[in-house]
Amino acid sequence: MFQRRNPIDADNNSSPLAGRDVSPPGTLPAAETPEIEHNLQVYQIELEMQNEELRQSQDDLLASNARYLDLYNQVPVGLVVLDAAGLIQETNLATATLLGVSRVKLAGQALSRYIFHEDQDDYFRFRRQIVEPTPSCRVELRIVHCDMTPIWVQVDAVVFPDDQGRPTLRCMLRDVTERRQLEHSLQMKNQAFNAALSAKSIATPDGIITEANATFLRLWHIPHLEEVVGSPIAHFFMHRREAMAIMVALDEIGYWEGEFTARRGDGSSFLARALATVLRDSNGKMTGYQSSVMDVTERKQAELALEEWNQTLEARVAEHTRELKDSVERFRQLADATFEGIAVADDGILLDGNQRFAEMHGYELAEMLGRPLSDFVAPQSRRAVAKGFSSTRPRNHRVFGLRKDGSVFPLETHMRVGPWLEHSVRIITLRDLTEIKATEGRMHSLRTDLVHAQRLALVSEVSAGIIHQLSQPLSCMGTNLSVLRKLKAAELEQCGAMEIFHDLEADAARMRDIVIHLRAIANPGQIARASGCLNALTKEVLPLLRARADHAQVHLKLDLCEHLPAIHADAIQLSQVIFNLMCNAIEASADVPLERRMVLVTTRPHAESGVELRVRDHGCGLSDDSIERLFTPFFSTKSTGMGVGLRLCQTIIQAHDGQIDGFNNADGIGATFRIELPVDSPLLMSPVSA
Ligand code: ADP
Repeated sequence: MFQRRNPIDADNNSSPLAGRDVSPPGTLPAAETPEIEHNLQVYQIELEMQNEELRQSQDDLLASNARYLDLYNQVPVGLVVLDAAGLIQETNLATATLLGVSRVKLAGQALSRYIFHEDQDDYFRFRRQIVEPTPSCRVELRIVHCDMTPIWVQVDAVVFPDDQGRPTLRCMLRDVTERRQLEHSLQMKNQAFNAALSAKSIATPDGIITEANATFLRLWHIPHLEEVVGSPIAHFFMHRREAMAIMVALDEIGYWEGEFTARRGDGSSFLARALATVLRDSNGKMTGYQSSVMDVTERKQAELALEEWNQTLEARVAEHTRELKDSVERFRQLADATFEGIAVADDGILLDGNQRFAEMHGYELAEMLGRPLSDFVAPQSRRAVAKGFSSTRPRNHRVFGLRKDGSVFPLETHMRVGPWLEHSVRIITLRDLTEIKATEGRMHSLRTDLVHAQRLALVSEVSAGIIHQLSQPLSCMGTNLSVLRKLKAAELEQCGAMEIFHDLEADAARMRDIVIHLRAIANPGQIARASGCLNALTKEVLPLLRARADHAQVHLKLDLCEHLPAIHADAIQLSQVIFNLMCNAIEASADVPLERRMVLVTTRPHAESGVELRVRDHGCGLSDDSIERLFTPFFSTKSTGMGVGLRLCQTIIQAHDGQIDGFNNADGIGATFRIELPVDSPLLMSPVSA
């Protein structure tokens, strides 16, 4: 290497000219010239080399300058130079990027413009170090990016004089937003950890507690955290085996949830519910355990108390339900036992009813429920019922019900609004008026009968007089005829009138008997009963009807049961009944074709202890009106009829404890009248000759 020489250094002994005499300028000794030239050349070469060295140094300097500039701009921290007034003198690219403002615009501006309002005081104090040195030359501030995003920056500064010796603040701005956010988040987590309602703790993989929150201390009655930190987890368990089981579960499946008995320092315990998990780092390596514990002693006690209360309540409800069922059953029995029907309806639909309600309509109750109430009301009454439904006032109605078989029956209803299973419904009570109506009908009939009876009484009175008047002459007539027959027997025989006399005597006797029995009919209580046979009576009546039958060309036929039990009866009265029934049958046959003119009398034992006699004809039959009024006094369809015959028959038969009725024949031809009489007694059941 060349040793650098200073070409202008006159004192340098190493110079080729050093130590030599120097001639006055312009005159060189000739002997020295070549040496001088040589030295000059050497000197020139040295100069050139020095020049080269200088150029190289300059290039290095420029390159270094460029690298410095690049470093200055590319460094990941913002660099700002502030003057004493806080104005930006110089910034690097990172600062411009941090603020989102170009370096040109930033130059000469106050940095405070970009600092958060709340942090201005800190910034002011920080900036004062330029004039008044402070112990801390670092501050953390929020600056605002041009898009209004706040950025946390850490500012470090040194005071340094500028070119003119004036103090400047050379600042370095580092973006610490992420760190601040992490710190904030950690702080929040810590707060949450401490403020949690459950006791939280963190333990090492060895089960030594490193962290515990305030609730943990409160739950375990521990005043200072230091008493917890460093203690093994098992220390806080009443039963060590429980702690071991939890640790095993955590190691196996990574978490555990359940209840355990916690132990306090004073020996007391509480029931704890816990959730514990294994903690791992980002590589999945286990770093410890964390647990969250709650005291559930009170809750458990409350649960037990609740369970106990529930059981009591259930028992009470069951008891009340039973009582209610009994009461409902009692009420239903009561409701079913009443004569009145009860129905509950809502919106015209039958919701409930009692047994009587179903019975009166001929249904089973189950078939009726859920159906419109109108289904059980006769068409002529539906409007009235609907009108009743539209009113909320309790009301009575007389309507007609409709039975399942389609028949209609009279009803009296009382409808009112009432509660039923928390609803407002119509409660209807119904009374079947069929019986009452029938009684009313009977009363009406009785009233009519009374009028007729009064008339009959009058007739009877007159008749009694007539009977009285007739009985004497008839008796005399019979006696006279008898005397006359005896006195004039020969003459009568001779002229062939004897037989006529016999007939006259017999007729007179019969008329006397009739008169006597007319008295009996007028007073049916006085009947002369004797044991007899219906067959015999029938046969006795037959001759009396012969003339009428012949006249009407009606054939009389008997079909008498041979083994008919005897009856205990008034023979004359029963003859009268048979006579009347046969008379009517003959008269009913008078106008029908000849081949139909036949009256049949049959006798039969009846039921268990009776006898029956039927008079059947093939005549005109009974009209509907006649059937209803057959036994009504003075009812007659004949122009000359009195209308008392059947009534007298009924009176006589009823006086003998029997029954009488009349009906049209099943084949639709003619009518039949039937009488039933009780038999005399079992002893008299011996066969009686017909
Ligand atoms: P009367 O014979 O005077 O009319 P009854 O009391 O004997 O009175 O009969 C009442 C009515 O009963 C008769 O008018 C007649 O219409 C009806 N009747 C009775 N028997 C018969 C019968 N066998 N066939 C048809 N109608 C009868």
